[in-house]
Amino acid sequence: MDLGIKGRRALVCAASKGLGRSCAMALAQAGVSLVITARGADALAAAADEIRRATGAEVTAVVGDIAMPEGRAAALQACPAPDMLVTNAGGPPTGDFRTWERADWIKALDANMLAPIELIRATVDGMMARGFGRIVNITSGAVKAPIDHLGLSNGARAGLTGFVAGLSRKTVRHNVTINNLLPGAFATDRLNSTYSAVAAQRGISVEAAQQERLATIPAGRFGRVDEFGAACAFLCSAHAGYITGQNWLIDGGAYPGTF
Ligand code: NAP
Repeated sequence: MDLGIKGRRALVCAASKGLGRSCAMALAQAGVSLVITARGADALAAAADEIRRATGAEVTAVVGDIAMPEGRAAALQACPAPDMLVTNAGGPPTGDFRTWERADWIKALDANMLAPIELIRATVDGMMARGFGRIVNITSGAVKAPIDHLGLSNGARAGLTGFVAGLSRKTVRHNVTINNLLPGAFATDRLNSTYSAVAAQRGISVEAAQQERLATIPAGRFGRVDEFGAACAFLCSAHAGYITGQNWLIDGGAYPGTF
C-alpha cells in the first residue's frame, strides 16, 4: 500500500533502538525524511546510517535527552515544522511504590507525560495551520491493564493518555490526528532489562521471568519491532485522517477484555 506520505518530514524521538527505531525505519521506507533523537551518540549514528542505507531517506541525528528542555529544543531546532511527530522515551524503572520519592515521580512524569505534551505544544498549531499532521505517542499496554511492578509507568502514561483524549478531538478537523500505540511485550533492550529486574526482585532466573510472560501472550511469542513500526507508519499515513484519540494495543492478544 502506498501510504501517501512521500516527501513529508517526521521527528521521531528516542529512535536509536527498539520501537522508536522501528517507527523511524517504517516511515523512511514510506519516503519520509527524518530527524531522529537519542542520548547515546554512537547508537544513534549507527541507526541513522542503517536507515539511510536501507531506504535512501534523508536522516538527521540529534543527540539529546528528550525528557529535558535542552534535548527538546535541539530536536525542534533540527525539525521545527514536522508533518509527523512520534513521541517516545525510555520507560521508568520497575519497583515498589513505597520506595519512590517525589523526585522519582517527577522523573517519570517528565519523560513519559510532560515531554510528549511539550513536543505536541511546540508542533501541533503549525500542523493545523498546514492542514496535515500525525502525532503518535508510544505509551504502553500498562495504560489498559496496569503492570504490577511498573507503577511509575502506569501512572505517568495514564496522564498523557487523558490529555491526548481531549486534544485529539480538537485537532482532527484540521487533518491532524493524535493517537497512542500501546506495546505489549516486544523483544527489545527495554524488555530484557525489565525481565532482569523482575528476576532479581523475585529471586528467579531471567529465563523463568520471560517464560512466565510468554505464557500470558496468546500469540505465543514476543512482538517483532517491524510489526510495531508498520502500525506507526499506517497511523502516520494519508489514509488515517479519520482515526484520532485511539489507543491501539499491539500485544499479541494479551489484553483479555472484549473492548
Ligand atoms: P529500548 O529498546 O530500550 O530503546 C529505547 C530508545 O530510546 C533508545 O534509542 C534510547 O537511546 C532512547 N531513549 C531512552 N530514553 C531517552 C531519552 N530520555 N531521550 C532520548 N532518547 C531516549 O526501548 P523500547 O523497548 O523500544 O521501549 C520504548 C518505549 O516503549 C519505552 O518507554 C518503554 O517503556 C515502552 N514499552 C516498551 C515495551 C516493550 O515490550 N519493549 C512494552 C511496553 C512499553 P539512549 O538510551 O541512547 O537515549
